[in-house]
Amino acid sequence: MAGAFDDSDQDTGLPDWLLPLLFAPFVGSFLGVVAIRWPEGRPIAVARSRCPHCDRALSPLELLPLVSWILAGGRCRRCKAALGLFYPAIELAALVLALWAASQTGGWLFWVSCLFGWALLLAAVIDLRAMILPDFITLPLIPLGLALAYGLEPGKLADHALGALAGFLVFAALRWGYRALRGREGLGFGDVKLAAAMGAWVSWSGLPSAILLGTLAALLWVAVAARRGAGLSADRKVPFGAFLAFGLWVVWLHGPILAVAPG
Ligand SMILES: [Zn+2]
Repeated sequence: MAGAFDDSDQDTGLPDWLLPLLFAPFVGSFLGVVAIRWPEGRPIAVARSRCPHCDRALSPLELLPLVSWILAGGRCRRCKAALGLFYPAIELAALVLALWAASQTGGWLFWVSCLFGWALLLAAVIDLRAMILPDFITLPLIPLGLALAYGLEPGKLADHALGALAGFLVFAALRWGYRALRGREGLGFGDVKLAAAMGAWVSWSGLPSAILLGTLAALLWVAVAARRGAGLSADRKVPFGAFLAFGLWVVWLHGPILAVAPG
């Protein structure tokens, strides 16, 4: 996918993927702050600043992503409370996404892919934690996906616009149908907006693959949750958007797994 647009031969002396990889864990750390504070309506700071247990102000050295967590053994140095796996996990995830993008893209498309992956990661983590997909991520992704499609290949813009429309209509119909049949909300409107963004980014030809991968991942999550005895009652909610975001990411980097269109 990236081949024709790879401008990584612009010589800056450094491989163009090095910088994003170096600051990916810091991005992950920031995303963690947003993912925790935004659903609570708290102001977003650049970094977490205090131990959540003893309220001790953290020193800059203690805010190094991944490294400080490992050095401190995952515990606050004063109160020894376990700091939890949330921050190291999201910092590592941001790094893995950047490495994944570097393996498939180059040049400016690598940067775009990193930003895209980090936006999806934030949406997914907020959906997993708070069961909501924020408009500030899903809505801008629709015009951005279309603009990118136009920039990469102007002739494909209509396919991507059609994809956005198809994603919106299919998920709006599913949402309406579920509500009509079951008398309650099964699919959030955030999922409908995300489906539109999916079509905008991977075109109508990539949309079925992204939805399929997302659905398989969600089913796997449900199966694992059931095995761990989390008691899957009929009204237990599944953060479907988080899994759709995963499907979208895979298809964005690797292309459709379902052949629905020639070429
Ligand atoms: Zn503490």
